[in-house]
Amino acid sequence: MTFEDFRAQAHRFSDWMTDYLETVETRPVRSQVRPGDLLKQLPAHAPSGGEPMDAIFADFETLIMPGITHWQHPSFFAYFNANSSPPSVLAEMLTATLGAQCMLWETSPAANELETRMMEWLREMSGLPDTFTGTIQDSGSASNLCALIAGRERVTQRRAAHGGLAGESAPVVYASAEAHSSVEKAARICGIGSDHVRKMTPGPDFAMRPEELAAAIRADRAAGLAPSCVVACLGATGLGSVDPIRAIGEICQQEEVFLHIDAAWAGTAMILPEERHWMDGIELADSYVFNPHKWMFTNFDCSAFYMRNPAELVDALAISPAYLESPDGEQMPEYRDWSVALARRFRALKLWFVIRSYGADGLRAMVRQHIDMAKTLETRIAATPDFEIMAPRRFALTAFRYNPGGMDEAALDALNMRLVRAINDSGRLYLTRTTAHGRVVLRMVTGQIYTEPRHVEAGWLAIQEIARGLG
Ligand SMILES: *Cc1c(COP(=O)(O)O)cnc(C)c1O
Repeated sequence: MTFEDFRAQAHRFSDWMTDYLETVETRPVRSQVRPGDLLKQLPAHAPSGGEPMDAIFADFETLIMPGITHWQHPSFFAYFNANSSPPSVLAEMLTATLGAQCMLWETSPAANELETRMMEWLREMSGLPDTFTGTIQDSGSASNLCALIAGRERVTQRRAAHGGLAGESAPVVYASAEAHSSVEKAARICGIGSDHVRKMTPGPDFAMRPEELAAAIRADRAAGLAPSCVVACLGATGLGSVDPIRAIGEICQQEEVFLHIDAAWAGTAMILPEERHWMDGIELADSYVFNPHKWMFTNFDCSAFYMRNPAELVDALAISPAYLESPDGEQMPEYRDWSVALARRFRALKLWFVIRSYGADGLRAMVRQHIDMAKTLETRIAATPDFEIMAPRRFALTAFRYNPGGMDEAALDALNMRLVRAINDSGRLYLTRTTAHGRVVLRMVTGQIYTEPRHVEAGWLAIQEIARGLG
């Protein structure tokens, strides 16, 4: 492709991008294709000659687009949102064009220094302690892994990174049963193992009970194990529950256990002063993660990971072969040593574009509106006799179920599973389910960048209509 062709196609693509965003609302939210539909249509072998971009793009529209679930659709209420935004997309275009690997200060000094400053901006915007230093990880899963590694290093007095865990008392991790699956995955990856993840049974509000945590730590210590890390949720994935951070933090201080806070989704709400009561005790934490790539209008990947003492992680990960020496960068943090991958995308650029474009107050207004929409939805559901709220609303997440009366719990579970499927097959809105105290519930997250109150209202009317039509 010549640069002149590139210019022409880039203009055409940017028109397509704008048209897509302007009309995304007219598409079915969740893709309606069946398993294997695309594979059947794709050639089994790579072309040996090059093809014109017009042909490739035509196939993109006819083959690929039907198999896309529209995460930027205003009626996307599933999972947690993965918000993009126009300024973020523009930055990603530049990042892709530069194609820079930002592993060392020297390999793009601006990427290194912008990342440092963006992490300071986010820290201040979110009211986090200024003793926290951060870096941008590719995912919340990677951030959780880094936290578990740091906790493992602390409890083994930095021996595990070099000597492995053989001969050490087994490290143990504690988290609510509501915690994200990436915590257990991280334990598997860093040699702790699933069997050494204690999943605490949450209380009635789905939050961890500190007394159960304290007892579990004492019991493990008495059994010769080595409690290494507690992961507290600030907005757990299923129901958005928040663990009592101060009470947990005090136990961790007493027991000298590393405390990590997983706020992957709800951390964005901490830019709102009125929501910060949820992170009371944050100064007791050793690390903290939140994903601007979920709720803060910044394309995946962008996970903000903070540590009180980064050396606890960096000492475990830093290896300096001759081919990576870069003396000029020595006074700067070399972020390659803060994460699993060596090569790093220029992720700070999109944050810079997003924060400057909306301003901190603009971002606050958008997040506040999402939470207000959830409050309205919660009120509407609570006032509807054949529906019930199944967990306290947290931030922009509301959990509920359809209960027309006269059915036992197993039948209600089956009914609500059918309801979710029917809703998503309709293409009108998209939501997902989870369980609350073992019962099937629908979860609706009103945090998509383009969602307005009218979309939530239309979604709620569609849910009732589909539910009552199930028969
Ligand atoms: C989404 C989520 C994660 C995982 O984040 P990824 O960036 O998808 O790896 C971890 N913890 C919580 C609470 C989450 O909601």
